[in-house]
Amino acid sequence: MPIYEYQCQACGHTMEAMQRMSDQPLTICPQCEQAQLQKIISRSGFQLKGEGWYVTDFKDGKHKKDTGTSSSE
Ligand SMILES: [Zn+2]
Repeated sequence: MPIYEYQCQACGHTMEAMQRMSDQPLTICPQCEQAQLQKIISRSGFQLKGEGWYVTDFKDGKHKKDTGTSSSE
């Protein structure tokens, strides 16, 4: 069963929930009880960097972080 990560948009509370794919996503924050919970797509999912490579890259399995001849030195 996959574990989903949620973050409350109202109070910032984060939580994890084990759910089936077919389960309804949670919406009610257990902390402030507002329906502001949003599912976080985390880890190997999407990277919101807006460069367009991430979708195909994700399907390939892993990304390379070592394009690193940039200016870190
Ligand atoms: Zn909350």
